[in-house]
Amino acid sequence: MRDLIDELTAVAGADNVLTSPDVTAGYTADWTRRFQGVARCVVRPRDTGQVAAVIGVCANRGVPVVPQGGNTGLVGGGVPAGDAANAQGVVISLRRLRRLDPVDTLASQVTAGAGVTIAALREHAANAGLEYGVDLASRDSATVGGTIATNAGGILTVRYGHTRAQLLGVEAVLADGSVISRLGGIHSDNSGYELTQLLAGSEGTLGIVTAARLRLHRAEPVSLTVLAGVPDIGAASALLAEVRSLVPAVRAAEYFEAAGLTLVRRHTGLPAPLAADYPAFLLADITGSGDYHERLASLPFLTDASVAVDSQARAALWAYRERHTESISAAGIPHKLDLAFPPARIAAFRADLDEVVTDAGAQAIVFGHIGAGNLHVNVLGPDPDDDAVDEAVFALAAAHGGTISAEHGIGRAKAGALHLSRTPAEIAAMRAIKSGLDPAGLLNPGVLLAPVSS
Ligand SMILES: Cc1cc2nc3c(=O)[nH]c(=O)nc-3n(C[C@H](O)[C@H](O)[C@H](O)COP(=O)(O)OP(=O)(O)OC[C@H]3O[C@@H](n4cnc5c(N)ncnc54)[C@H](O)[C@@H]3O)c2cc1C
Repeated sequence: MRDLIDELTAVAGADNVLTSPDVTAGYTADWTRRFQGVARCVVRPRDTGQVAAVIGVCANRGVPVVPQGGNTGLVGGGVPAGDAANAQGVVISLRRLRRLDPVDTLASQVTAGAGVTIAALREHAANAGLEYGVDLASRDSATVGGTIATNAGGILTVRYGHTRAQLLGVEAVLADGSVISRLGGIHSDNSGYELTQLLAGSEGTLGIVTAARLRLHRAEPVSLTVLAGVPDIGAASALLAEVRSLVPAVRAAEYFEAAGLTLVRRHTGLPAPLAADYPAFLLADITGSGDYHERLASLPFLTDASVAVDSQARAALWAYRERHTESISAAGIPHKLDLAFPPARIAAFRADLDEVVTDAGAQAIVFGHIGAGNLHVNVLGPDPDDDAVDEAVFALAAAHGGTISAEHGIGRAKAGALHLSRTPAEIAAMRAIKSGLDPAGLLNPGVLLAPVSS
């Protein structure tokens, strides 16, 4: 009888079934280095038919499958668990599914394969005078499939919403190897359950996304980028509200603090962004024309702000925010906690956070998409396997009415804490959906929904 590797080789080709640990290492450890495991092999199918065949082989044999895109996820959802003694699963890398159809300019839509990177998709749309509504610092590696599976947010969420708001339909392979396809681009379709939206944010647990039909937006140039120093997050939120009331539209609104700026400057060698030192910063992209410049300049905190109008100067300001993630990782292996709050509760959470983190002998580096009520709390200090500080911060977030995942998803990292953001009835409904679509539990086991203890 043929073994698993032979069968996968027969459907995907020998070059696309990787077994050497040297080669598979890049697929079995995550971007943060906090999560890593072992796979029996890594398969790299070329098209939807091969994905279906690979899943069919795994389903017949009862082999678990971990879907992976650009492997930029931050919650351990795209890498296998376990060690060499109990390697069970197969990593299926979707990066080679790089179909990118011509832009339909009449409908402002495009069909893209799961492996197309967000940078390539955005460039493709821009060449047609349109814009894809998701952008994030991992754009050169993060894929269409991965961003759908995590329902990624990013810097444009405040303007266009999360990935699910861009989705008109998906093509996906289900756990039994069957293919569903909703790539017709119909805006109004009430013919039954919305399977596309069900797959958005499902983190590879309900199906493998192979392609998507995506909504595009009219290209919208940024007219102004502002970086302002502020005393704290409450002042940043208040300043953002004032800016919003004065300008046509805010496209992006980001927050960071002095501790993160210090790490960024140490890692990148960038100069100080403003003449004076500040505890916290608001970075905002403003779009649209009008005579708002003078009114903006009179706002408190904007008197010593940096204002950029051309793309090079804007990129220089954005580097202070976008280089946070790599600069924090250069300082250690962070616990990346991605929270969101109702706008009125975010300052109170921030005020209580430092005590919880310093009690654990750790340091918190805080930044995030403040326009969407989102805070990334990066904890440096504890061992990668020590979850105590994660649990304490999640409990604090829940006490302040927050969610334990704004945009990165639950992954393996937070599966045990899902009850802090979802009720028992909601979790039971999720488990019912999971067992309906994947009765053998082969798609990304242990991700999003923790194993049920017997
Ligand atoms: C520097 C940096 C900045 C980031 N900024 C942001 C940000 O602003 N906003 C944000 O939301 N995230 C951000 N992230 C996190 C990450 O980029 C996103 O979660 C992204 O959506 C992951 O895409 P990926 O292709 O790398 O997916 P992966 O990391 O490969 O996988 C992520 C999850 O999706 C599943 N998956 C992947 N592909 C498929 C598929 N085709 N079908 C089904 N399931 C699949 C995996 O199993 C896993 O559970 C950032 C990460 C980095 C490193």
